[in-house]
Formats: sequence, structure tokens, C-alpha cells
Amino acid sequence: MEDTIAAISTAYGEGGIGIIRISGEHSGQILNKIFQAKAGGVCKPRHLTYGHIVDIYNENKIIDEVLAAFMPGPKSYTCEDVVEISCHGSIISLRNILALILKCGARPAEKGEFTKRAFLNGRLDLSQAEAVMSLISAKTDKAFEVAMTQLEGALSARVKGIRGRILDLLVELAVNIDYPDEDIEEITYSRLEVELLQISKSILKLLSTASTGRIIREGLAVSIIGKPNVGKSSLMNALLKETRAIVTEIPGTTRDTIEEYISIKNIPVKLTDTAGIRETDDIIEKLGIEKSKKAFNIADLVIFVLDGSRDLTGEDMQIAEHIGKRPVIVLLNKSDLGRALNTEQVKTLLPHSKVIETAITEGMGIEEIEEYIEHMVYCGDVAQNESMLITVVRHKELLEKALAAITDAIAMARGKEALDFLEIDIRNAYELLGEIVGETVSDDIIDEIFSRFCLGK
Ligand code: GDP
Repeated sequence: MEDTIAAISTAYGEGGIGIIRISGEHSGQILNKIFQAKAGGVCKPRHLTYGHIVDIYNENKIIDEVLAAFMPGPKSYTCEDVVEISCHGSIISLRNILALILKCGARPAEKGEFTKRAFLNGRLDLSQAEAVMSLISAKTDKAFEVAMTQLEGALSARVKGIRGRILDLLVELAVNIDYPDEDIEEITYSRLEVELLQISKSILKLLSTASTGRIIREGLAVSIIGKPNVGKSSLMNALLKETRAIVTEIPGTTRDTIEEYISIKNIPVKLTDTAGIRETDDIIEKLGIEKSKKAFNIADLVIFVLDGSRDLTGEDMQIAEHIGKRPVIVLLNKSDLGRALNTEQVKTLLPHSKVIETAITEGMGIEEIEEYIEHMVYCGDVAQNESMLITVVRHKELLEKALAAITDAIAMARGKEALDFLEIDIRNAYELLGEIVGETVSDDIIDEIFSRFCLGK
């Protein structure tokens, strides 16, 4: 009975319905014990049956009115016998039904265990299983679409394609190494080099999507910075298109960092409005400054707001120095009040910056900021409509290692080194790519990956 697992699969909190899922060979047996179909009899496989869950340990007292479904394996999510019970979405009902199922012998599922079983039973490969988690946590339509593409096996197919080519090469190498005297076609170093270069190109192509992919999945961290009263909160509000941050005329009153998740052109953006980097004795304000420094330090992009209607001050220079070489957009704000600053002045301070003239309260320049962010995220060759992106850091790291191994092998082929040595690197690349789809991955890594899932999935 140990290997039959159960969990609440819907989110905690009030909802129209809640779902409890059971998987394992005793699922059906447990359902038959606790479920009384209104029309009598047992649940017909793959049909929703209306009835009651009753407490068999307490005089068959009705726990809830439910719809139950029995999906025999292997044509189920986990490839095992699966039961889903849809009850009222109250935590009381969900907990009581789950407790009863556990009393009947199932054990609580671990995080991600249903999907882990789907993986172990061969229904999904590892990258597809990881896509399930990305789907659940997707914050924008684009993030969902990318995860869906991965779930449908686009990444797996690409990785398997590259592995197939490496395998062909390995077979050929093995024959040449093991039977050098036989009458077989000899592999030449120049052909090896050509094949390896093609493989490295394919890996590089996948890797080139990783920076965009990470942002689509995790969001772009943007930190808004500038001395007090230049229009940071106004910018935040304009981007949010609602008044969330407090706008005020008194310098230094945006006390804390304020974080907001927004979607700019379908890109998830985590915006942090800073309290400014200012020396101050005000404890609350200092707290905000510490936080803003932290947000600033991990930002993918800094938006530096200047009051463009006034000359630069020492404080502006200090902030510019602090920004250093980070990716930055400099806003010459309040341009409706006249122009004291120009792009050239900013460029002498921050040569790599993108300068945009804005009048935030007039709504001027906001679209340009959004377009620039879009342009920045879809960098290089990544097309906007591309949904085959590398989004998971684990995949990116494995691709990088595989690329390094292939690059080594290319150098060895050029140096006409012994085939045995080349074979080691090529085999290494083959195994590293296998870890992406889960063919050569260790149990520890599998456990680690699924432990990041939510309960009930
Ligand atoms: P923060 O301290 O940098 O967050 O600045 P705020 O966003 O609180 O703005 C300070 C003041 O400047 C407010 O009264 C805003 O309405 C005003 N302000 C912000 N942007 C502009 C702008 O583009 N033009 C004008 N005329 N006023 C602005």
C-alpha cells in the first residue's frame, strides 16, 4: 500500500471546487471504499461519477458531495491507476477527505511526486517534467507559451537530435579505435572537425536563447534610481498605470523600496522603486536605502531618472558613478519644464547608456522605455515569436559544459591527437546533454528537481 500516494492538487484557500489526487495500484480500491455513487455501483473508468465521500471509520457519515474519476494506468498522468476527487473547494472538506484516504493506506505525496512518477514511468522526459513546473508558475502569456512548447517536447527533440549526431560520431570513432586494421572507412581528422563544428553550432544556437529565456521565465529585475523628487514614483505609477507608489512633493518621502510585478510587452518585469542612495539619519529611510541597494545590485537593468529641466548635481554624479557599467536607461525627465540637460552630458557620465527624454506626468516617453526594454530582452537572434527558448538554468549550464567538451574535442582534432582522447570529450558531451532530458541523470539530481515542485503536482 506504501506506494499509493495522495495529495490536495488545487491551491489552498476558498474555491469553487478542490481536487484530491491519488496515484498507485491501490487508488481504485481506496475510492471504492470511501465513495458511494448516487446511482449505486462503482466508478466506471474515465467517467465522472456523482456521489458522496463517506467516513467508513465513523458510521459512514457523509464528508462531502463530490464527483469522482478513476483513470486506470498506463493511460493516466502518472501511468499508474489515478483517482481524482472533485469536492467543494473548502480546506475542511479537502483535508478531511485526504485524511480519510491516508487512513485507508495511501501515504502523503511528496512535492512533485505525481510528475516524478510520470517521468520515472517514461511518460515525460526530465525537461518536459520541468516544463510542468514552469507552466504552473508562468506569470505572462509568453512564459506560458514557452513552457507549453517545452512540455510538448520541442527542447527534448532538439537535444535528442544533437545527441543522435554525437552518437553516430561515437560509433564511428569506436569502430576506428577498436578495429584499426579492418577494412572500414577511416575517419579523418578534417571530417571529425567538420562534424564537431556543426554540433557545436547547434548547441550554441540553443544557448543563444538562454538569456531571453531566463527573463521570460523569471522576469526582468529593473531598479529605478535617482535623487529625490525627480519623478521615480511617477514613473513607477505610469508603468503600473495605477497609483500604487505614493507620489509626493516632499523630497525623501518615498520611504521604502516598493516592488511590483508588471508585464511590459508580455515580459514579466519586477520593478523596484528605490528610496535613493542618500546619506540620511532617518532610520526608516536608511532601511529603505539598504533594500534599494540590494535590489540595485541584482538588477538586470537600471532606470536612472534625472530632472532634465535642471543642471546635474553632485548627487546625480554619485549615482552615475554607482551605476558604473550596468545596463542603464537614463531618463531626462520633466522635459515639459524646459531643457537644462542634454544627451551628450549624460553620455560623458555613462557612455553606454540609452538616453530617453521624458515628461512622465504628461505621459511622454513611456512607450519608448517599454520598447527599449522589449528590444533589450529579445537580444541577438532571438525572434519575438520564438517560443523554443532555454529557460531553465540547469539546461543552460549543461549546454555550456557540453559545448566546452565539444570545443576541446575540436582543438584535439585540429592537433591530430589520439582518437581515444577525443572520444572521451565527445562522450562527455553526449552524457551532459543526456542529463537535460534525464537519460543520464543521477537520482540526487532527480530528487532535487522534483523537490522544487509544489505539492499535489
Ligand atoms: P520621486 O521622489 O523621484 O519619486 O519623485 P515623484 O515621482 O514623487 O515626483 C516628484 C514631483 O515631480 C511630483 O509632484 C510629480 O508630479 C512631479 N513630476 C514627476 N514627473 C514630472 C514631469 O515629467 N513633469 C513635471 N512637470 N512634473 C513631474
